[in-house]
Amino acid sequence: MAETLLSNLVPQDETGRRAEMAPSGKAGTRVYLETYGCQMNIADSQLVNAVLRRAGYGSADKPQEADVILINTCAIREHAEERVIGRLSDLARLKHARPEVKLGLLGCMAQHNRASLIAKAPWLDLVAGPDTYRRLPELIGRSGFDPAVDVRLDRSETYAGLSPDYEAGVRAYITIMRGCDKFCAFCVVPYVRGRERSIPPDDIVREAEMVAARGFKEVVLLGQTVNAYRAGEIDFAALLRKVAAVEGIERVRFTSPHPSDMTEAAIEVMASEAKVQPYLHLPVQSGSDRVLAAMERGYTVGEYLDLVERLRLAIPGLALSTDVIVGFHGETEDDFQATLELMRMVRYDSAFSFKYSVREHTRAHRLGDSLTEEEKGRRLAELITLQEAISLERNRQLIGATFPVLVEGPARRGDGRMAGKTPQFKTVTFPGEDTITAGMTRPICIDSATGHSLSGTISSL
Ligand code: SAM
Ligand code: SF4
Repeated sequence: MAETLLSNLVPQDETGRRAEMAPSGKAGTRVYLETYGCQMNIADSQLVNAVLRRAGYGSADKPQEADVILINTCAIREHAEERVIGRLSDLARLKHARPEVKLGLLGCMAQHNRASLIAKAPWLDLVAGPDTYRRLPELIGRSGFDPAVDVRLDRSETYAGLSPDYEAGVRAYITIMRGCDKFCAFCVVPYVRGRERSIPPDDIVREAEMVAARGFKEVVLLGQTVNAYRAGEIDFAALLRKVAAVEGIERVRFTSPHPSDMTEAAIEVMASEAKVQPYLHLPVQSGSDRVLAAMERGYTVGEYLDLVERLRLAIPGLALSTDVIVGFHGETEDDFQATLELMRMVRYDSAFSFKYSVREHTRAHRLGDSLTEEEKGRRLAELITLQEAISLERNRQLIGATFPVLVEGPARRGDGRMAGKTPQFKTVTFPGEDTITAGMTRPICIDSATGHSLSGTISSL
């Protein structure tokens, strides 16, 4: 599966979880933090690390070495929740052996399931929603005989003034807005992350200056509907220009924009501001007007295609990826065929596709499922096969072209190769050289391609 900026389905290790280094301090109390879900959750875990470090907590690399074990969770699909419940049972065995260990659940699932979680997992010591992280040290301290639960949503919490503990690398993810007001019929996000709120632009620019001073070359602006950003007079397009003006930052990206919020002004900034990279993850969800209306997405297929055309005209070499849901309630075979047709028309560089998962609290919840898991699975497999063929064709068309590649470090498969990203966010590997290090940008001529990555050699250009 190809990588997008919002790596919501990119497994962080072989089990799909991601271990974060928690910070050091609190009289020897060591915290282990594990993260599931999207890039926003990873960014939230970096905030949690910063809160705990400031409060003096120490870090553990493994749950076996920790006094406090925290799991930051995702509620977007049932499958994600089931994985976390499975993981919690594993961790409960640890707690059984060492009852003094505190086990906590953070994030969207904590918000989604609240009290029922305590019934399902009675060994939990604390449950904390996404707006409560500043209070975590207090919650950890308070948890004991009874679990400490705090799932208050806070319309004003933006974590402004709290700089996350960024993971080392060339790219820093900066959250610019939280929550979502769109209420798509299938989606639990507005219920678990609360109402939309934007972080003041000065704080965002200060954060970008700080990461630039620390050597990061690229920033990715994050939000559930990132282009709905607005703080007073400053809309998303204006913010993009402000961040692009930060000295030392060479590349600016953002994810995920909502098609309905993609203004001409934002397209114009993408087209004219050299630092804003030509890649857009533009979730479409379905290629059928009937289904889009039932999903309450707020656009038609025609409007979406018109947007794609305007984007491609304005931004040469633009790469596009998307999210698609198959098997939403009432999706007929004709609706599904319309989605396949849309994929053939747009020819995305990559796509994340999901089987519809009925979520409690959402508007579509009462409708339930109209298709069997098998039928959803068949549609998903067909869509993936089509997209893989398109991704391969598109990548093969790049053979012979040269791209400025921002080097990230050694390639995963080793053998002395290095890896980096093109402006279109495609992974490129190339033979390493002693003089080339992470953070440099080098021209790489592409000589072969798969559907998922490119490989090439350093160009003399
Ligand atoms: N805000 C983004 C947008 O508007 O497209 C998406 C955020 S959501 C975390 C990421 C993706 O998860 C969505 O684009 C959608 O494809 C998928 N998703 C959300 N709810 C889902 C559900 N109930 N079942 C299956 N997939 C779902
Ligand atoms: Fe969910 Fe829709 Fe908001 Fe995206 S825009 S987070 S899909 S409600």
